[in-house]
Amino acid sequence: MKALVWDETLKLDKNYPIPEVSDDEVLIKTTMAGICNTDYEITKGYMGYKGILGHEFVGVVVKTGKNADKSLVGKRVTGEINLACGNCSYCAKGLQRHCPNRKTLGIYKKDGCFCEYFTLPQKNVIPVSDAIDDITAVFTEPLAAAYEILEQLHIRPDHKVAILGDGKLGLCISLVFSALNIDYTHIGRHREKLEISKKLGAKVKLSDELEKDDIKNYDVVVEATGSSGGFETSVSLVKPRGTLVLKSTIAAKEGLNLASVVVDEITVLGSRCGQFRPILRLLEKGKIDVKPLVSAIYSVDEFEKAFFENEKKGTLKVLVKF
Ligand SMILES: [Zn+2]
Ligand SMILES: [Zn+2]
Repeated sequence: MKALVWDETLKLDKNYPIPEVSDDEVLIKTTMAGICNTDYEITKGYMGYKGILGHEFVGVVVKTGKNADKSLVGKRVTGEINLACGNCSYCAKGLQRHCPNRKTLGIYKKDGCFCEYFTLPQKNVIPVSDAIDDITAVFTEPLAAAYEILEQLHIRPDHKVAILGDGKLGLCISLVFSALNIDYTHIGRHREKLEISKKLGAKVKLSDELEKDDIKNYDVVVEATGSSGGFETSVSLVKPRGTLVLKSTIAAKEGLNLASVVVDEITVLGSRCGQFRPILRLLEKGKIDVKPLVSAIYSVDEFEKAFFENEKKGTLKVLVKF
C-alpha cells in the first residue's frame, strides 16, 4: 500500500505492507486525512517518532479482529488517537488520554493514518453520521482538541474571552466557541484569517492594534500562537485572578517570564486532546462550517507536495484524498 513514512526523511512508500489486524482491532481504509502542525513538528524531531505519520482521518472499516464488533464493517468512521492500556489506575478513572502506557496514532509508537490501510482498537473507533461529509469529518480531531477547553473550564456568559493566534489551532477554537455561542474576541496577525472569525460574529483585533484597554481585560485568554511572544501577550491580557489556557506546547520553551502569573494570581490551564463525541454531535447538526479553513486538497500520490504546502506561511488545513 501507499504510506507517507517519516524516517529522518519524508517518503511516500508505495510498497508498505498492509498491517495485520489483532483481535481487538479494526482495519480502516483511509478516505481522507488532514495534515497537522504536529506532523510537521515530528519531522523536526518532536517525540523522536519514526513511522507512518498522521492522526486526522475519516475512513471505512474493512475488516475486524476476532473480538471486534463485526457490524462496523462498511461503516464510515473516525477515531480517538490515544491508545490506552486499559489496565492502569488512569484508565480505571476514565482518563485514557493520560494513560502513562498510551501509544498515539502517528505520534508515538503506533503507525499513523497517512496510508491506505491502518488499524485502531475497536474502542477508539466512532461511526460518522452521513450528515457529515468527508472534509468536515477530518476536522473532528482538531475540533475535539478545541472543545477540550470547555470540558476543563466553565465559561460564563458574562466572562470576557479572548483567543490569541489565528492559525489552524486558533481558528478551530474560534469555530467551536462560535458554535456554542460564546462571546469572544479573536486576536491575531492576519487580517484575512481573522475574517473567518469575523464572519462567525466574533470581535476581531490585529495583535499590533491591541490597546491599553485590552491589558488585564479578559477573564479567559486562550493562547494558541505557539510563540514566546504570543505567550507574553496572552499573560498581559488576563485579568488578575483570571485564567490563561495554554493550547500550544509553548510551555516547553525556555525563558518564559512567569512573574505576572504570580503577581496577578493567574490560573494557568494546560489543554490538549479532547473527546470526539460532542464535536461529532455539533458537526451532525451543522453547527460548524470547516470549509473556510481548507487551503488545498491533494491526492495521495502528491502526498510529499501536500506536506510541503502545509509548511508554507498563510496555509491553513491541507487535506489528502485517498
Ligand atoms: Zn492534529
Ligand atoms: Zn492505562
